Amino acid sequence: MIHVDVAIMGSGIAGLSLVNYLKELTIQQGKDISLAIIAKGNFDQTNTNWAQGGIAAVSSEIDSFESHIEDTMVAGVFLNNKEVVEKVVTAAPEIIKDLIRWGMDFDKTEEGNFDLVKEGGHRYSRIWHHKDATGAAIQSTLSNSSRHLSAVSYYEYYAVVQVERDKSGIFYLRLQHTETNELQTISATNLVLAGGGIGALYAKTTNQPICTGDAIYFAKELGAKIKDLCFVQFHPTGLYGEEQTTYLITEAIRGAGGVLRDKEGNAFMVKYDERADLAPRDIVARAIFSEMKKAGTKYIYLDATALGEEKIKTHFPSIHAYCLQNRGIDIAKDWIPVVPTQHYLCGGIEVNSFGESSIENLYAIGECANTGLHGANRLASNSLLEAVYFAKKAANKIVNLAIENPSPFLVEHDFKATIIKQLSRHALQQKLSDHAGIIKNTQGLKDTINWINETLFQSTLLSTYSLADIETNHMYEISLILLKDALLQKKNIGVHYNEEL
Ligand SMILES: Cc1cc2nc3c(=O)[nH]c(=O)nc-3n(C[C@H](O)[C@H](O)[C@H](O)COP(=O)(O)OP(=O)(O)OC[C@H]3O[C@@H](n4cnc5c(N)ncnc54)[C@H](O)[C@@H]3O)c2cc1C
Repeated sequence: MIHVDVAIMGSGIAGLSLVNYLKELTIQQGKDISLAIIAKGNFDQTNTNWAQGGIAAVSSEIDSFESHIEDTMVAGVFLNNKEVVEKVVTAAPEIIKDLIRWGMDFDKTEEGNFDLVKEGGHRYSRIWHHKDATGAAIQSTLSNSSRHLSAVSYYEYYAVVQVERDKSGIFYLRLQHTETNELQTISATNLVLAGGGIGALYAKTTNQPICTGDAIYFAKELGAKIKDLCFVQFHPTGLYGEEQTTYLITEAIRGAGGVLRDKEGNAFMVKYDERADLAPRDIVARAIFSEMKKAGTKYIYLDATALGEEKIKTHFPSIHAYCLQNRGIDIAKDWIPVVPTQHYLCGGIEVNSFGESSIENLYAIGECANTGLHGANRLASNSLLEAVYFAKKAANKIVNLAIENPSPFLVEHDFKATIIKQLSRHALQQKLSDHAGIIKNTQGLKDTINWINETLFQSTLLSTYSLADIETNHMYEISLILLKDALLQKKNIGVHYNEEL
């Protein structure tokens, strides 16, 4: 067993930004901090790697912090924590500089200026991007700059399967190798959960299969507060298909002039919102859902043909290539069949402005955290920004704490016996998609809670089990929190919509 000052669960933008900031701070301050970074797959198997649109930060003179703050608050229906919104938005240009310092290559115009684009809900062009594959560029930048550091222990292909905290506040993590099942234990003075979202709870999601919500499960087990788990954002335009992980068609296409059409070819968004195709995601997703229901179709169309072949190939090369190679759809000429799909968790582990949870030395950053930035709905391209901002704040806190509390000597730890039941992941995904999706109703939420409780009660205990079984057990527990939170909502707000309210 090894002991580290800081264990970080997650190698997406949140976890790896934290490694980069801690690296810089320890060098600047001449300090020595030991880290462990743990990821379920290889370090690049993250949602971050699939982010397309980009990262929001005010830059041009016609834009202002005030308007980015207001756009964020409007999208979040003013449930956001305004102080947090102000801090994140005003720090955003510095966050962009940090990413550039670490090697990030944001697109430039022919004149040599940064090529900022517009997305749904943003009044001005303030999205910094790398073609239509910003996340992949960020992921490889961060991976490169956080590898081969002497004070870091790397655990790639290790899933954290159990977390406990002893009376002295030390965290113990049981790790299981995802291929060999070998078990290891590490202990840590500080634990940072950067485990991403909960997409695996739904039948259709843009998230990678790693997103089983483990961070939220462990936080709950440790007694941390979880908030607003029912605020689940559905992306309006996943490419229609049979797989669980839906390929995302970025809203930057609508920002550039793409239009949603029903099967007759009518542009219908003007009926739903004055911002038409550029309305916030929840409005667009519900509008599409209603149109599909009315017409009895499984998808509607996104028409990007007006953008022209040159613009599509320059600005959206990955989407163009993906649709052509995998579906035979040339998006410069053909309409794209799209469907709303689970996309982002706005709620999560409640944290303060340093990413600290309600449990001492337990941090949460990135998508698994509820920082107050998003309120009832996330404004596009604010989540990558949030992940880096809170990694920076957490790093500043941790770098001082770790020095004040030098690592203790190793102590042996016996984990409690785990209870893993035989549960169907597929059945859960179907239930949540039917009753805790874009449009909910009270009876459906209550029935699903009863179904989960009965299923948990009746299921047999497994004597041997796989990593997938462990994840599925976590998913049932998190679903209960999500459903109960949805039932507690007294009005429809942001991404939460109950047709009976
Ligand atoms: C298709 C797509 C497009 C998007 N586009 C944008 C965009 O343009 N702009 C924007 O701002 N946001 C976008 N988002 C949202 C944004 O990408 C995510 O919110 C963000 O990348 C989450 O980063 P993260 O570091 O919190 O988690 P992730 O990047 O999801 O990383 C999670 C990490 O946690 C690890 N992990 C999880 N559980 C365990 C465990 N039990 N043990 C060990 N490791 C574990 C995983 O292995 C992984 O390393 C998009 C999301 C998707 C899916």
